[in-house]
Amino acid sequence: MSKTISINAGSSSLKWKLFEMPDEVVVASGIVERIGLPDSIFTIKYGDGQKYETTADIQDHEVAVEMLLEQLTELNIIESFDEITGVGHRVVAGGEKFSESTLIDDDVIQAIEDLAEFAPLHNPANATGIKAFKKVLPDITSVAVFDTSFHTSMPKKNYLYSIPMQYYEKHNARRYGAHGTSHRYVSNRAAEIIGQPIEDLKIVTAHLGNGASITAVDGGKSVDTSMGFTPLAGVTMGTRSGDIDPSLLPFIMRKEGIADINEMVRILNNESGLKGLSGVSSDMRDIESAAAEGNEDAQVALDIFNDRVRKYIGQYAATMNGIDVLVFTAGIGENAANVRQAVADGLSFLGLKVDPDKNDVRGEERIISTDDSKVKVLLIPTDEELMIARDVEALKD
Ligand code: ADP
Repeated sequence: MSKTISINAGSSSLKWKLFEMPDEVVVASGIVERIGLPDSIFTIKYGDGQKYETTADIQDHEVAVEMLLEQLTELNIIESFDEITGVGHRVVAGGEKFSESTLIDDDVIQAIEDLAEFAPLHNPANATGIKAFKKVLPDITSVAVFDTSFHTSMPKKNYLYSIPMQYYEKHNARRYGAHGTSHRYVSNRAAEIIGQPIEDLKIVTAHLGNGASITAVDGGKSVDTSMGFTPLAGVTMGTRSGDIDPSLLPFIMRKEGIADINEMVRILNNESGLKGLSGVSSDMRDIESAAAEGNEDAQVALDIFNDRVRKYIGQYAATMNGIDVLVFTAGIGENAANVRQAVADGLSFLGLKVDPDKNDVRGEERIISTDDSKVKVLLIPTDEELMIARDVEALKD
């Protein structure tokens, strides 16, 4: 049976999941961390709960891929390399060029590198992962799956900022969004679960993890999304501010003596959001427990998070002139029942009602709205890796 591997390469890490296709069975998964540093950590999970872990000096992504394939054979997860017939790579920025998943050739690699301007930390790392696999397994189907592709269906009125048109025309300054693979997976899954064609549905998908984004999916197409030119925009996140008035930047810089705009952007990306508000943590679990113990800043951080998520859902109901389905996914969306309940409670004017008993669940695919709710509310664990493997499968000849 042929296997496909989904890859998410970071600058010093390589996360992967191996599927038997077309059955979509997960055979193994793992992560290589600290690539290029001493004592890289190499982990494989396989079988029924077995785990292999070792440390070694893994100097680059190519060595990581070689080691991964050797260990897969060693642990009898595959008999030979030939079993792996496809690889799908997550790529963060696809710009306007890549509206769908694409077979990788040298031109595609070059284009991914050229798009680094839009994702300076991610695209070069994604390209490194691609090249490493190309070198070690040159003949298998190799596919790039872009976080932005799903959002290329947005109409101009939703992707343009209200700034001089020349900045879009000259520099492609516009909204691109992110988490597209997740929004695509959960919106399609939602339609399947409720048994209606996605073409007939107005869906809002709330991907609430460390990074969080909300998307309006009308008839199966993304028509608007909360992240913007970069993933800094939209709702309050773990460490990211989400939407703010840009005039705050020169004001804070002047008051705080911050000379470099890049330092200000770093603060908005890394020191803001739940972390900056609460002073406690960027992690929702810590925020919830600090708030429960009476920490007022943590409570206000939680209130702001819920409020921003709720507002975007309301906004997107207006964008689509209606909402049939709301989906919660990712770390917070899948696990934080209180967040789901609080968000939903403020949307009762839409006829949206979450059933507290059905909502008392973590990480399990299910409908959590009441039977009489006009809007179906679902919890769907996201599966970007599976979506990537499916895209590879669809492009195999
Ligand atoms: P990433 O964007 O890094 O992939 P995840 O989707 O893994 O993030 O989500 C991480 C977030 O999910 C963290 O804020 C974490 O606190 C939150 N989370 C995970 N489990 C729970 C839980 N049981 N209750 C509340 N929040 C949770």
